[in-house]
Amino acid sequence: MRHGTGRRLLLLVLLFSFFCALGAGQILEQARTNTLAGRGIASAAYRRDFYSQEMWEEERRLSRECRSFLKKVRRDSVCFPVPASSEDPSLTVSYEDSWMYERSYKGTSGHEGTDIMADTGERGLYPVLSISDGTVTNLGWLELGGWRVGITSPSGVYYYYAHLDSYADIREGDAVKAGQLLGFMGDSGYGPEGTEGKFPVHLHLGVYSWDTGEEISVNPYRLLRKLEESRLKYAYS
Ligand SMILES: [Zn+2]
Repeated sequence: MRHGTGRRLLLLVLLFSFFCALGAGQILEQARTNTLAGRGIASAAYRRDFYSQEMWEEERRLSRECRSFLKKVRRDSVCFPVPASSEDPSLTVSYEDSWMYERSYKGTSGHEGTDIMADTGERGLYPVLSISDGTVTNLGWLELGGWRVGITSPSGVYYYYAHLDSYADIREGDAVKAGQLLGFMGDSGYGPEGTEGKFPVHLHLGVYSWDTGEEISVNPYRLLRKLEESRLKYAYS
């Protein structure tokens, strides 16, 4: 008899623990859902983790504006901005996740993009291609970005390509296709028009949303890793 009571008690304790754990799990899940749903495009976590595997897995729980921008970027981003060389496989590029790393030019600021480095360090050699279809909305010199191009895609995503060495035959207002040549990688910027050589040759790529009426950058690193799967080949050496 006493034996039976002990068992029932044990069973009750086990059941109680089980439902407690279940409840705690549900509370945590709900908290995560609330956190994600409460984030806007300007949220630091959304911008930093943009296009991550985890973000795609949780896509349905994102707020409408966060999900909408994520999908626009996926829809419009077609190819990696630097093609492989069909003539010389040693012409490689490399890049890391340097989101918000400290940059110092006339004061310090956080890095709002990804730097795709030319492993050979030669300016004017690596072609720079448009990631998306779109319109050339900005072209010309910026003190920080040097010779830069800004392309606005059909969904309104703004792609910013900086530090070019030279431009292809494009003008502001022109329509461009994904994979179209925009110019060549260089080391321009950080000074008055024509300044070059202040840093190694690379392409600074930025991705921006204008969805909320203000310019908000997101981390392009994971998008670029994805786009490498669809990297074009060009004949250059
Ligand atoms: Zn950069």
